[in-house]
Amino acid sequence: MFAELKNELSSSQATLVAVSKTKPEEQILNLYRQGHRHFGENRVQELCRKHKNLPKDINWHLIGHLQSNKVKQVVPFVHMIHSVDSIKVLKEINKQAAKFDRQVKCLLQLKIAQEDSKYGFHLSELESFFTAHPYETMPNVRFCGVMGMATYTDNQEQVRDEFRTLRNIFSELNYRFFANNPDFAEISMGMSGDYKIALEEGSTLVRIGRMLFGERTYARAALV
Ligand SMILES: *Cc1c(COP(=O)(O)O)cnc(C)c1O
Repeated sequence: MFAELKNELSSSQATLVAVSKTKPEEQILNLYRQGHRHFGENRVQELCRKHKNLPKDINWHLIGHLQSNKVKQVVPFVHMIHSVDSIKVLKEINKQAAKFDRQVKCLLQLKIAQEDSKYGFHLSELESFFTAHPYETMPNVRFCGVMGMATYTDNQEQVRDEFRTLRNIFSELNYRFFANNPDFAEISMGMSGDYKIALEEGSTLVRIGRMLFGERTYARAALV
């Protein structure tokens, strides 16, 4: 499955983040031995444990909701935080990253799904924030782009619409607030069920779990 997926992604140039949440370290090592280095986790505790136990050249992506009191645990080592969903957490990342003399790569999570269980910003919040506080005022955050999750539905047109919305938001933010920031280039969208549509709509980072590692044993509702 891994080889087929990589092959499929090679034409699009998108980076594959293998979402290993709930899965044992042995399964991560299995992909690691095949050369894979980008893994995603959605819980801070599990991320920290796996980082501690596994090879240090793994690039760890945090993709789940982050509470500000846990920021300091991940900032020393995380490769990219996809799930920055409030100004409060953004400020805390900037503050903690300064202590470690790091610049942490971050994506702004946008609320694009109709489901209301999802975390994320509305475009208007970001517009008012960055109008008053240009990104340069947070020197320890490296603003790399946006992330979003589509509605969990069989309606492919709805999913496509939501991904398109995210891409338009990316362009808008890029043009208005990050025009002189070449780091602002990523659109993290697409999971096992919808990554093909996401790639067609311009995804640069796909986050794929079940398709690589098999079904997880708990209900989806428990993880969002
Ligand atoms: C679990 C998760 C994924 C991967 O979902 P799959 O359906 O297993 O591919 C992607 N993104 C986020 C934010 C997740 O929590």
